[in-house]
Amino acid sequence: MITPRRFWIRTHGCQMNVHDSEKVANLLLHDGWELARGMGDAELLILNTCSIRDKAEHRLYSELGKLREWKQSAPGRTLGVAGCVAQQQGDVLLRRFPQLDFVYGTHNLRRVPEMAAAALRGVRDSQTEENRSQDRFDLPSRHPSLVGDPAGRAFVTVMEGCDMFCSFCIVPSTRGREISRVGAEIIAESRDLVASGIREITLLGQTVNAYGRHDRRRAAARSERNAGGAVDRPPTDAPDSFTGLLRALGEIPQLARLRYISPHPIFFDDELIRAHGELDVLCPHVHLPVQSGSDRILERMRRRHSADEYRQLIDRLRASRPDLAITTDLIVGFPGETDADFADTLKLVRDVSFTDSFSFKYSPRPGTAAASMTDEVCESVAQARLEQLQDLQRSLTLGAHRARVGETTEVLVEGPSRRGGAQLSGRDPFHRVVNFSTGAEASPAPGGLIRVEIVDATPHSLIGVWNQAFEDDRRSRIVKTGAPFADEQRAVIGR
Ligand code: SF4
Repeated sequence: MITPRRFWIRTHGCQMNVHDSEKVANLLLHDGWELARGMGDAELLILNTCSIRDKAEHRLYSELGKLREWKQSAPGRTLGVAGCVAQQQGDVLLRRFPQLDFVYGTHNLRRVPEMAAAALRGVRDSQTEENRSQDRFDLPSRHPSLVGDPAGRAFVTVMEGCDMFCSFCIVPSTRGREISRVGAEIIAESRDLVASGIREITLLGQTVNAYGRHDRRRAAARSERNAGGAVDRPPTDAPDSFTGLLRALGEIPQLARLRYISPHPIFFDDELIRAHGELDVLCPHVHLPVQSGSDRILERMRRRHSADEYRQLIDRLRASRPDLAITTDLIVGFPGETDADFADTLKLVRDVSFTDSFSFKYSPRPGTAAASMTDEVCESVAQARLEQLQDLQRSLTLGAHRARVGETTEVLVEGPSRRGGAQLSGRDPFHRVVNFSTGAEASPAPGGLIRVEIVDATPHSLIGVWNQAFEDDRRSRIVKTGAPFADEQRAVIGR
């Protein structure tokens, strides 16, 4: 017999989705649900979907088909679908899949406990309406049993939605219009997280460095209308800018690392660039999507900057913080991309010397501007370009990793290494994966900050050795070997 009121969430897609799953897990924990050990002992299963790549709907349909058996194998089991596919399809999913109990979109996370409770009474429901108010950020503080995955790190939402409408991207349809969160709430949540042991915070937003821009614009318009009167304040009491927010968060004692994802190149200003050289808490890594190195393709993508403007931005960032690691996103085979356009992308990748990149073949997303472009690149050409680009990136990444052999780097410990054996793994300030071996006597605990000597490098990770002599006792926790990963440290959100 299954344990009553246990849930499991299977998450696909980006950090935004991972964080949405954490928020829903938090809501359910506050509502009296418990975390299951996996799907097998869950009474409630939620699939948090992603539609950024092709065939997301088909993958979901196939997953739901397989889950019919899961649902029927124990009484009272409840099945929900969330995320971008849910946002787009809503009721259609309920009509098509009788085994499905509820569907909720990206603006309706707060409804999950009531939908789950209603499902137990046999009520099927779909909630996908857009919510443009601050209510959507109004969520309870982190439940004590929500450890987070990996331990020691947490995401904090600073804004949601996107008004950029890049021609290939479905996000403005699935996440809605851009809205920034009240600054005081971001700071309060971050303080609470740090007080609970979190050492690294990643600020999340679709165009995170555009934070507060609409509030500032509206406040300026009001001030203009009230000219001669008192200066109007932004309604959200947000810090004046994204950099103001970073500086305010940098004041939190014991916050060791601050990151943000994903910025847009056009929202970097002098203040933010300068902060990279001045704020110790800000990690020396920026993930800055460029998508293409061809001006012609960037224009068709509606990215609103040229390849040279991107290069100049990187130069200015590196002038501010010389050791900054830059990673990016790239698309090959965008409609109309010629060999010359692709050569421009390879040139940009060499010029910037990205530490790493995520590259994908273009696939049309229904409802986007690019989906109606007819000059598609044939599959075999796109595949060949992808392989060529990834070969180049592998050699750049390996070069960047090899150049660091002999350094000692600070690692936030995550858990056992995917390489297996007795190695552990974590991330350094440059967001590089560091796999490291430990001494026989003791092991660093997940969530601890330690220092590791880099002794080797692969294209995927740095290889290191932890020696307790490197330890900074002020910031780290040590556990005896044999019990390094207690139950409460395991991942909360299944992936
Ligand atoms: S900036 Fe462009 S790629 Fe990024 S989320 Fe917005 S529309 Fe999509």
